[in-house]
Amino acid sequence: MRPVRFNINPKEANAHQSIGMADAPPGYSGEGFFTTQLSSVVGLARKNSMWPLPFATSCCGIEFMATMASHYDLARFGAERVGFSPRQCDLLMVMGTIAKKMGPVLKQVYLQMAEPRWVLSVGACACSGGIFDTYSVLQGIDQIIPVDVYVPGCPPRPEAILDGFMKIQELVGKESIRRRNGEQYKTLLHSYGIE
Ligand code: SF4
Repeated sequence: MRPVRFNINPKEANAHQSIGMADAPPGYSGEGFFTTQLSSVVGLARKNSMWPLPFATSCCGIEFMATMASHYDLARFGAERVGFSPRQCDLLMVMGTIAKKMGPVLKQVYLQMAEPRWVLSVGACACSGGIFDTYSVLQGIDQIIPVDVYVPGCPPRPEAILDGFMKIQELVGKESIRRRNGEQYKTLLHSYGIE
């Protein structure tokens, strides 16, 4: 039997050193006031409180589990509240091989999410079908829903998933609050048959 090993050199948490504050958005400050753009404040709040919906169908989902667990700890980015209700989540994380039969289910989940919503495609299968160049597998989820960030790899390591997540945070933080009502966004959705 393998012996049980304990951490014999536990580190004491130092809240002052290990907890950082998000940078304030650009703006003007003076004695007792600070002004900035509404989009910047909303972006700051949104990007640090993402609610991911994991749509995991195969091996990449296991990497996601590692990403959520204590070593990599997605909660550090304000995203520990993983939800399985599309109506409450704003980040769809698609991880794994998506069979063509599963395509309508994935699209239904996407449609049930409220705006603003973002999509992170994790792993070669979700991005392009991966090694499954076959009649039954969707050759990339961007054939049925718009994707914001692609994470390559088969499977991508948790560090790569975190990197993809941080790219999503960058997009979310910079997004104008008017974008979702804009013509460009409507045209994008229209190209997917979404009104
Ligand atoms: S990309 Fe590789 S690891 Fe990820 S679901 Fe596909 S086959 Fe599995």
